[in-house]
Amino acid sequence: MIEEKGILFILSGPSGVGKGTVRKALFNQDTDLKYSISMTTREKRPGEQEGVDYFYKSKEAFEALIQENQLLEYAKYVNNYYGTPREYVEEMLELGHDVFLEIEVQGALQVRENFPEGVFIFLFPPSLEELKNRIIHRGTESQELVLNRLKEARKEIEMMDAYDYVVVNDDVNLAVKKIQAIIQSEHLKRERIAKQYKQLLEDEL
Ligand code: 5GP
Repeated sequence: MIEEKGILFILSGPSGVGKGTVRKALFNQDTDLKYSISMTTREKRPGEQEGVDYFYKSKEAFEALIQENQLLEYAKYVNNYYGTPREYVEEMLELGHDVFLEIEVQGALQVRENFPEGVFIFLFPPSLEELKNRIIHRGTESQELVLNRLKEARKEIEMMDAYDYVVVNDDVNLAVKKIQAIIQSEHLKRERIAKQYKQLLEDEL
């Protein structure tokens, strides 16, 4: 078999659209995907675990990572930093594993600049009203935070243009199936297959 680099998949979309839920449902199924665990400065929520949900960092530690260029992308979102560790992602791709990021939209735009060959999936709310309800009923945050998240959401929806695929999250299982179909299709793309076969021919000659 020909050594091949993995594909970087980026799931993004507006605040409260259900990115985390869809990502968890995807990873609950049998998958070869590697999930890149993000760094964040936000407080750990009940039930979350260090090194499973996030790597929790102080603001100072996070800013040091930025200075050291250890993040593939990062964003400040509702007064906290969130970022993707560069080394893990690059190492996994190099080893031929597909890597999956679940990040907000500013970060996704940065990845688009650095990894234009990545596959960008925009998770879209069934309706704005539905989105508003989901954010409000999450119930773990203050009124001010909820209003901030809603404001972000409106801006984020306008960013759909920078993506390769749009998946409407009207049903989690269906959204997962669609993402799996995208992953499968990307592996069947003519240019990827052709590259493999050309390499094979070169190796034979
Ligand atoms: P939460 O605080 O609800 O876990 O996440 C808030 C937002 O940050 C979500 O939209 C989530 O997708 C995003 N997020 C999580 N990790 C990262 C990351 O590494 N980089 C960026 N840019 N956003 C992230």
